[in-house]
Amino acid sequence: MELWYTEQQTDEVRFSIKVKQHLYTGKSEFQDVDVFESEEFGKFLTLDALMMVTEKDEFIYHDMITHVAMATNPNIKKVLVIGGGDGGTVRELTRYSHIEKIDMVEIDKLVVDVSREYLPITASKLDDPRVSLYFEDGIRFVADTKEIYDLILVDSTDPIGPGEGLFTTEFYQNCFNILSDNGILVNQSESPYYDQFSHEMKRAHKKIKNIFPISKVYQFHMPTYPSGHWLFGFASKKLDPIKDVDFDKWNALGIKTKYYNPQLHVGCFALPSYVQEMLDNE
Ligand code: SAM
Repeated sequence: MELWYTEQQTDEVRFSIKVKQHLYTGKSEFQDVDVFESEEFGKFLTLDALMMVTEKDEFIYHDMITHVAMATNPNIKKVLVIGGGDGGTVRELTRYSHIEKIDMVEIDKLVVDVSREYLPITASKLDDPRVSLYFEDGIRFVADTKEIYDLILVDSTDPIGPGEGLFTTEFYQNCFNILSDNGILVNQSESPYYDQFSHEMKRAHKKIKNIFPISKVYQFHMPTYPSGHWLFGFASKKLDPIKDVDFDKWNALGIKTKYYNPQLHVGCFALPSYVQEMLDNE
């Protein structure tokens, strides 16, 4: 008997992966948490039946959420990760020896516990001495913290359920308030392809560009996300991700990456015309 995981990506589109085993199923106060084993994508984590991370393509997402900002500002010392329960974003950050402090604010401890057990590929660096885990709502954390960060990475779920508040003007303004003078915010910007995702992309970009002097969007290919065409927002107080980047400095760090590279760093900000028009017309 064949077992398939199927994600309802839109009302008219489903995405299925043939599964060898359903390794874990659980429920926290926030969401359903499941882990599957598959031939094609290895082990993968879903939250409320939505794809979060797979062993096979996680490197793409975690390279692109981390290295664009880290190459733009070589002096980043204090980083805040909102969400990021699988640990992949923190893993990439710990590769920078000049980072002194990584605070990860994940609302659901079950996601971290399950990732530690089933996804060591992403959760392997959560015990790095520079990492502090806070199991609380990122919305409240950025409103209340007295800390100042050089980089905030919003590695959240979609704007539904606990993730909804991470796409609000109040949240982005609070992020701006706790960023240093050269501060950078990288946020989940969803996707331009299906209407429900492009709607969120446009809304997030409009809110952020009203707060940050520099606000851009960059793209990458994510096979297991709806349409495979995924975006991050890049917002900053001063630094332009293309004009101010110093690739000689980044290359000198000797950080080997499987997806990110300096050519792609520049190219990923070149968006298809229909996407650029969506963003400009917001
Ligand atoms: N890479 C995945 C993606 O793009 O959908 C997301 C990675 S991670 C699994 C997303 C995390 O955000 C989840 O663990 C979820 O619990 C967390 N999260 C959602 N809303 C949150 C909130 N308000 N505060 C903190 N963490 C939140």
